Amino acid sequence: MQPTTVMPPMDELRKVFREAGLSLTHQRVVLYRAVLEMRSHPSPEAIYERVRDEIPSISLGTVYKNIRAFMDAGLVREVSPHHGTLRLESNLEEHHHLVCTRCKAIVDLEESDLEPVRLRRELPGGFRVDRYSVEFRGLCAACSAKPDLS
Ligand SMILES: [Zn+2]
Ligand SMILES: [Zn+2]
Repeated sequence: MQPTTVMPPMDELRKVFREAGLSLTHQRVVLYRAVLEMRSHPSPEAIYERVRDEIPSISLGTVYKNIRAFMDAGLVREVSPHHGTLRLESNLEEHHHLVCTRCKAIVDLEESDLEPVRLRRELPGGFRVDRYSVEFRGLCAACSAKPDLS
């Protein structure tokens, strides 16, 4: 169901960064690779935890700054701007999400897994839609197998 992200080779990466107008630093390569490898829509904190071994001197602030640069350049985007915490999206194909309300896991659902959404009437206020994503909320398999702790 989920396409596996193949990490682009170094010259491909150089091209991606150049086209995005970003200079290619070792830090950015490590961070970008982490975002691509973590298919779990990671938060900047999770990325920070992951890259600390490789770049012990990195700070959470630096992670945020570079993630913002990636977002501004269109290399990654925010899963949804209203979730309160920043979660990153490296899958730039249109798709939907399964969201676990307990562990906050976010899993991709391909666009083709769903019938196209059609509106029955004009949207109020002349709202113009650029793109949409459907969110299915519930419990992931791991959470539903566990007893309710609340
Ligand atoms: Zn869960
Ligand atoms: Zn996604």
